[in-house]
Amino acid sequence: MRLYICTKCGKKFVEERLFCPSCLSEDFSESSINGATVSDRVQLFATPAKFPESYYVLLLSNGELKIFCRSDTDIKEGMKVRLDMEDSQHRCR
Ligand SMILES: [Zn+2]
Repeated sequence: MRLYICTKCGKKFVEERLFCPSCLSEDFSESSINGATVSDRVQLFATPAKFPESYYVLLLSNGELKIFCRSDTDIKEGMKVRLDMEDSQHRCR
């Protein structure tokens, strides 16, 4: 998964931005995240249309970066997961 880092203030984003909302800089460097650790999870039963009837939303952490992602399977806290982008949704397995 791609990571965009503001070259002025160091803030990190998982989506490409025209400018940094913190310092308004337009310069970013690119990096990538291979994995992150599950720090919290919740199972959803009332899900939006076009999504499965039930799935998990995981809160992942990778250093100071926190990312939400969707998972079809239950992945316990402390486990390492791989991140994929699918239809601009973060998925992990
Ligand atoms: Zn910045």
